[in-house]
Parts: sequence; structure tokens; C-alpha cells
Amino acid sequence: CGIVGYVGHQVALDVVLGGLRRLEYRGYDSAGVALPSAGDLLVERKAGALANLEARLDEIGREGFVSTSGIGHTRWATHGPPTDRNAHPHRSSDGKVAVVHNGIIENFMELRAELEARGIWAESDTDTETAAHLVAIAYAEGETAGDLPATVRAVARRLAGAFTLVVTHADDPDRIVAARRNSPLVLGIGDGETFLASDVAAFIEYTRSAVELGQDQVVTITRDGYEVTDFHGEPVTASPFEVTWDL
Ligand code: GLU
Repeated sequence: CGIVGYVGHQVALDVVLGGLRRLEYRGYDSAGVALPSAGDLLVERKAGALANLEARLDEIGREGFVSTSGIGHTRWATHGPPTDRNAHPHRSSDGKVAVVHNGIIENFMELRAELEARGIWAESDTDTETAAHLVAIAYAEGETAGDLPATVRAVARRLAGAFTLVVTHADDPDRIVAARRNSPLVLGIGDGETFLASDVAAFIEYTRSAVELGQDQVVTITRDGYEVTDFHGEPVTASPFEVTWDL
């Protein structure tokens, strides 16, 4: 399973698909991408090989995918069979939020019950989908309204288990926010572009400057850099290292 995120100046779809291809060795059963587009999100996902997703993208035509930010995922199903519907990214009901996730959200039953009590019903069988709805709610109302990093921190504090969670919001297309607990996440620092991925293989052709995210940290990437905090918003110093090995 693998995760890729990109904010920069290239066509994000190409960078994200290329990254996912280089993470294929990790194993997966489905794949998908989400890209912000004019206040909306383009989301495509497919069970099976990455080639199935690529075929789907060819079928609908790639001309519309001009976004320079986006996220991608290869799934190794733990909750729900490997179907199109369960493939990531998962979206919130208002369509504004897309998330990809590697790991397991252990308290998702509880969270799902809470969402159902608000009239929000899951579309998929996954533990992941709960996070998409929680992000949409926390971004829309309350203390964290309109603040994507604060929103992701608030949601991360509520999740038990293991997660690399990567979030894109249709109304905040120039940054991507990710949280990490018990699951890997690395950043790639390029020139006017920033990457995030499960491992450096995904972006090594573009940059060898990398930052390893620590336990219980949240990172916000833009094309100009990155900012790391703990789950409570305390800034964390995270210095780049040079990737010196070859793949
Ligand atoms: N638990 C999530 C799912 O079953 C994520 C699995 C993964 O790590 O790819 O969809």
C-alpha cells in the first residue's frame, strides 16, 4: 500500500501516478487519485492494478486534470473488500474533502455511529471514510472552521490506531495536510514543489532532499515548503536529510 501527495508546478496527475507506480512493490489491491479543480474535486478510483485506474483516466480523457496539486493511494484492504466503492480517496458528503489513508482506524465504529446520529451515512465499508466526514465537519464549523491544518490536527486527535492520513480540500487547493501515527510518511523538498509519500521511492527522480515525519505529527505542504507541528499545533523542527542511495 502507498500514499503520494504533490503540490508544485507540474501536472499533479502525472506526478501522483508516477509515484504510485514506484510504490507498487509494496503491494495493493486498488488505486485512486483526487485533485482539486475549480472549487470541486476530481476523484477517480478503481479496484485492481494501477493499469485499471490509468485505463479509466484514458477513457474519460485526461485534459481536465490540469491541477498542480493532488493525492493518490494504493490500497491494501483491511475493512471492506477490494471494490471500486471501497477504493480510496474517500470523500465527504459535501464533496469538498478527499482523504487517503494507510493503516487502520480502530475506533471507526464509534465514529461512524456518531456520524450516523448526525444523519451522515457511509458510502463505503471502510474505516477511512469516517475521517473524510470528520474533516468536512471540523472545517465547516466550530473552532477549526476554515483552517485545514487545525482541522486535521483536531481529527487526528480523535483517531485511534495506525494512520498515514492525507487530506485535500476543494476550497484550499494549494496545500495538502497529512497526519501520521504508527505508519510511515516522508516529504520531498523540491524547487517550487513539495512531495509526500510512504517512502522516498515515489519522488526520488525529482528531489533527494527529504524529511521524515515523526510520530504523532501533522504536516502542511505548499509549493514553497512545509510546516510540521504535533497534534496540538506546537511547531516541530523537522530538518531535511539527503537521500544518498539509489533505487
Ligand atoms: N484500512 C483502510 C482500508 O481498508 C486502509 C488500508 C490501507 O492501508 O491501504 O481501506
